[in-house]
Amino acid sequence: MRQFTFILIFILPLAAFSQLNPQSKKITKKFFPDLDIEINTPGFSKKKGFTNYKMMMSFINKLIEKEEGVTLSFIGESQKGKPIPMIKISKNSYKEKIKIWFQAGMHGNEPAGTEGILYLMDQLLNNDKYSYLFDRIELVIVPMVNIDGYEKNNRYASNGLDLNRDHTKLMIPESNSLKNAFSNYGAEITVDFHEYTPFRKDFAKIGDFGISNIYDVMILYSGNLNVPKILRNFTNDIFVEKAREVLEKNDLRYHDYIVSRNHQGSIHFHQGSNSSRSSCTAYALTNSISSLVEVRGVGIGKTSFKRRVNSTFLVALSYLETAYNNVENIKQILIKSKKSKNDAVLKSAPNISNSQITCLDLGTSQEIVLDVILHDKFNAKAELIRERPHGYLIHQDNKLVLEKLKILGLTLSSVTSSRTVKAAKYIVDSCERSQMKYEGVFMQNVQTSTENIVLEIDKFWYVLKMDQKNANLAIEVLEPEAPNSFVSYGLIKTEKNSDLPYFRLLKK
Ligand SMILES: [Zn+2]
Repeated sequence: MRQFTFILIFILPLAAFSQLNPQSKKITKKFFPDLDIEINTPGFSKKKGFTNYKMMMSFINKLIEKEEGVTLSFIGESQKGKPIPMIKISKNSYKEKIKIWFQAGMHGNEPAGTEGILYLMDQLLNNDKYSYLFDRIELVIVPMVNIDGYEKNNRYASNGLDLNRDHTKLMIPESNSLKNAFSNYGAEITVDFHEYTPFRKDFAKIGDFGISNIYDVMILYSGNLNVPKILRNFTNDIFVEKAREVLEKNDLRYHDYIVSRNHQGSIHFHQGSNSSRSSCTAYALTNSISSLVEVRGVGIGKTSFKRRVNSTFLVALSYLETAYNNVENIKQILIKSKKSKNDAVLKSAPNISNSQITCLDLGTSQEIVLDVILHDKFNAKAELIRERPHGYLIHQDNKLVLEKLKILGLTLSSVTSSRTVKAAKYIVDSCERSQMKYEGVFMQNVQTSTENIVLEIDKFWYVLKMDQKNANLAIEVLEPEAPNSFVSYGLIKTEKNSDLPYFRLLKK
């Protein structure tokens, strides 16, 4: 009992303190000193809290008034009825421009994303030294995707779901608005700005007093094997590499995206991502140069906020400059990448190896190097593949599937005359349904086999052809074993020995 009381006396204040401010002043001063720069975005005009929706809108309206070539529109409404703004900057006339898409505020508790993008807008429109960029680029910005979450400093949308796990199942109204706008725009470069949690629960168990992630910025690009290799490499070698140089020059620590995961009681690290449920891979599958930027910030309040906002700004600006300097090259790569006809990869596994990760020891306030087991998704291997189909055939009765495919920007053409085609049907050989909900659904884990058939089709059928910009996204949502497919998410309910309600088109 005495020991228990002793523990309580010492642990409780520590716990309470760490709740309020998990980062000591000493660590902030030594590793993340704030910057002494002028930033005039609304978040810096108040002592506590961050930019709210109203402040953002008046900042944007003021910024764009009398600006030529800048338009404000609304892509839809948040669940609580607030219009979601989209700003398009398309200024100087030039025949061949690169179309760029920036978004921020998918997670409402990651303020440096939105604030950094507002700062970028301010600089692009008010600082003459950046105006040359618009000779060769066009930029669309959605600065606050999850308005309801943002207003409450909460990660989730107001129906409790995570917008960045919803890119293929599309169960959140804001996701649908965002995807519609994204699909209509047809971006060639996309960046999604976030912040990450430096003090993770897992980290408390490492060292005497736990560790913290040390990187100011982590950058993610897709390791998904349905994203053509030429596109993955170009994204890393040209865009991410340039951003790394900029961060280096500005004395900011950076790393490729890593995250800790519990593997049967021990902590492993995962590097990269290849999941199409999240923006980075979902966008890369639309034949776009796609990245996600994570700034060190969730859970540390307004600590080093200028540093964090400036980090967002620097990476964003670097992407614009890289685009400006590589216009012809980008166009060429995207043409080549769109022509890739790789087999469809349904399942893949990361490369697992012993590695080392630099982090911050909270007991000693020192930088340390940890030996870790690393699951590297930038170097994944295919585990289950299926021949790439010529297209998919979907009957008009599958309204939900057709509607979601359209939102994903996939073009469906209707069949004009009755005929027979060589097709393959899917037969479900096994189906396990999960007992617990994940992000609002009961997941299904299926194995299927395909059987070649002759299918009669008529005007009640739609064809999705695989020679379109977003074709690789079709593989992710229609191949049933793919982890983020409509079948995996239970949007198409199935069971053992049934056929799926759509078909693979084998030949023209
Ligand atoms: Zn996030």
